Amino acid sequence: MSGVEKELRKLPGVDRLLHHPALEPLRAEHGARAVADAIRALLDQWRARVRAGESTPPPEAWPELVAQHLARHGRPLLRPAINATGVIVHTNLGRAPLSPQALDAVAQVARGYSNLEYDLESGTRGSRHVHAQTLLRELTGAEDALVVNNNAAAVYLVLAGLCQGREVIISRGQLVEIGGGFRIPDVLRQSGARLVEVGTTNRTHLRDYTAAIGPETAAIMRVHASNFRQIGFVIAPALEELVALARQASPPSGERILVIDDLGSGTLIDTRDFGLAPEPTVQESLAAGADLVTFSGDKLLGGPQAGIVLGRTPLIERLRRHPMARALRVDKMTLAALEATLQAYRRGRALEEIPVWRMIAASPQELRRRAARWRRWLARHQIAAVLLPGESAVGGGSLPGETLPTTLLALESPEPEALAARLRQADPPVIARIRQDRLLLDPRTVLPEQERDLLAQLRRVCTDSP
Ligand SMILES: *Cc1c(COP(=O)(O)O)cnc(C)c1O
Repeated sequence: MSGVEKELRKLPGVDRLLHHPALEPLRAEHGARAVADAIRALLDQWRARVRAGESTPPPEAWPELVAQHLARHGRPLLRPAINATGVIVHTNLGRAPLSPQALDAVAQVARGYSNLEYDLESGTRGSRHVHAQTLLRELTGAEDALVVNNNAAAVYLVLAGLCQGREVIISRGQLVEIGGGFRIPDVLRQSGARLVEVGTTNRTHLRDYTAAIGPETAAIMRVHASNFRQIGFVIAPALEELVALARQASPPSGERILVIDDLGSGTLIDTRDFGLAPEPTVQESLAAGADLVTFSGDKLLGGPQAGIVLGRTPLIERLRRHPMARALRVDKMTLAALEATLQAYRRGRALEEIPVWRMIAASPQELRRRAARWRRWLARHQIAAVLLPGESAVGGGSLPGETLPTTLLALESPEPEALAARLRQADPPVIARIRQDRLLLDPRTVLPEQERDLLAQLRRVCTDSP
């Protein structure tokens, strides 16, 4: 018998290991079947390792190996991560973290029954649309509001519901791709509306829009460029000018030419208060006379994934009754989180309560203090790190190229990629940035309650051998 065969024979049997007394708590917790599956998978791995020349672990090591295997493979595939990238609205990391108030509201409503579609006064069927509607109207000055699955759905519903079979005029500078393959021209085609492109990539004049208006025109649409910035020889008419043009060119009787404003991120708060470029606010867009405004719930609003449509009641009412509204509708958990998020704005507490705005509003001193505290903690554990001035980004298709000053914690490493990879494999995973030979961590996007985990993981990956 070869040495490998001898080693293979030392591997325990599935049944013997399954009934090992030390595994009783695991059987109680996960069930015998899951433990048996884990043992089989673990033994498969070890057969391969033994064939590759390793020796079999000693008998007493097996219960712990099974426990580790279960812990690693039994955890959910979708799980919390620590965002140390400094990109606040990070689409790949789940966009806006929710406020504690929003989380509470979700838990309350999801745990049991609710008045989701029940009118408590009359005791008859109600509408799920009323819940966020009042707050959205109050906060933005809009006549009416509709909440759907996301902003892509909002744009689609507006076009399909109000422009199908007719023309929508859009500047060539705004025929953008948002990410994840969401391209404005494609959405337009899918909605059944016909795209009329005007102007050039960098310059579109009011007269370009004027010339394109005809009997088939249903709307003029403005799309926020979101993820890129044009500088230099650039021009686009103001929203007010488009509104005036649409009014003036509408037939005296019959349907008015609509002005649709896809704000993308949409914000209720003026970003200039934080040293950032102006991001058009929802209120400004409505005040300028846009008939319909669409934006996301989980970008700068700081709430759950949702698409919000604001505008005049007869238009919103048509959208509400559109067959696709049912397919694009939001769940009670979304409505609960959105309502709680909007309540923070109404109480004037958005900067304190909504994580996205707390991160934007974080002062340079506070960020420096946090980074310095991390550095001192690591130094006490013999891990060298330095503080560097750096920049955080708002992200999420808002304010492209705009940054907020921050203080970064930098770890020097001959292999920063390997260090970053090990942090990604940690539990919870830590996502950092790399620049040259440094791993960079930005305190701005690390939630205070995640700091302990972050430091523990840093210590582990910096002191363990790979
Ligand atoms: C982000 C964005 C969208 C898509 O919004 P989702 O909420 O991700 O569906 C549409 N239009 C613009 C301009 C955007 O920035």
